[in-house]
Amino acid sequence: MDMDRQDKYCSGLQSNTDFRAKATLGVAKAAFCLLLPLTALNFIQGNVPVALVSSYILVLLALNVYLVVYNQRHENFTISALVIPGMILMSIVFQHNAIVASLWCFPSIIACYCMLSRRRAVYVNFFILFMAIPQAASYLSPDYSTRIAATLIAVSLFSFILVRTIDQLNTRLQQRLLHDPLTGLLNRLSMKNSLQGAITIYETHAQTATLLAIDIDYFKSINDRFGHEAGDQALIQLALIFEYNLRGTDKSFRTGGEEFLILMPATREKEAYKIAERLRREIELAEIIPGESMTISVGVAQLSQGEDWQQWTRRADQHLYEAKRLGRNRVTLSDKKHSNVVDIRKNAERSGLDF
Ligand code: GH3
Ligand code: MG
Ligand code: MG
Repeated sequence: MDMDRQDKYCSGLQSNTDFRAKATLGVAKAAFCLLLPLTALNFIQGNVPVALVSSYILVLLALNVYLVVYNQRHENFTISALVIPGMILMSIVFQHNAIVASLWCFPSIIACYCMLSRRRAVYVNFFILFMAIPQAASYLSPDYSTRIAATLIAVSLFSFILVRTIDQLNTRLQQRLLHDPLTGLLNRLSMKNSLQGAITIYETHAQTATLLAIDIDYFKSINDRFGHEAGDQALIQLALIFEYNLRGTDKSFRTGGEEFLILMPATREKEAYKIAERLRREIELAEIIPGESMTISVGVAQLSQGEDWQQWTRRADQHLYEAKRLGRNRVTLSDKKHSNVVDIRKNAERSGLDF
């Protein structure tokens, strides 16, 4: 799958898994179909108060749909304009027809779990129970009211369990979507968003960031000599070394088979170079393959003014190729003054500087 198609697939999956927005639309559509004919009928029959209340609910549902479609936060609006007036209305209906009011509590509970975050839905659910159960007890016979209380609690529990399961599956799906299954590092799809975020921070807060493009040296030969399984284990070990040696704010991505990218926010290239050099040495000495020295080559690139994420990664890659060309197992970065790539490790070693 090429990058554009992957991006579309990714955003499609993410929006599909945003089930609350979809469920809110579904609830609104279903309620529209049910309420619209009823509202018209009430107007025709001269039942004006009921017709006005249902018109109010219809307008609110339409506004809710608008907010969801235009990606605006709709939960506060749902609570203040729909849930609270809905509960007041329900209390009034209880005084006139407790059976009808009790019955409407069931879809209301389910609708809350569809439209609100789980925490908020639980609060509203408790409010509905605390409002409905005592009222049912005072207006209905004990026979009916106990059954209504029991079934309301059952529907609340089942709705909660269902929504919690969907949330857990959703989290797992997002994890899989954004992480590499072998190493657990972030994958290419997450990379674009993170780089775009770093560019936005640079444009708005003038805070730069630096990329390390990393490639394992002669990895094919490791596979050939020790087997693919050992190669996989080496990749996992390497990811662990990244995690142990990098800062909490740094992000590591597996961008290809034995290729990685590290995003260092709020870091200039000289500092990134030192960290990369430490990482290179750590890996060289780690004996990831027993008795062997597995090494990496690294290209360093600090974000430049006006650069997009493709240009930025391309520059990091160019520096990485230069590290390979210069003999591998080294870190290279650009010398902006001369706009060419230099191996400053060599310069540093010549001047006796220890990284
Ligand atoms: P160079 O120093 O030029 O980078 O040499 P190289 O051998 O590392 O580069 P090359 O591109 O020739 O080979 C990369 C190898 O990485 C080939 C492929 O078998 C191996 N590889 C890619 N993905 C995986 C993986 O997930 N697991 C294992 N074990 N090997 C992988
Ligand atoms: Mg390689
Ligand atoms: Mg490679």
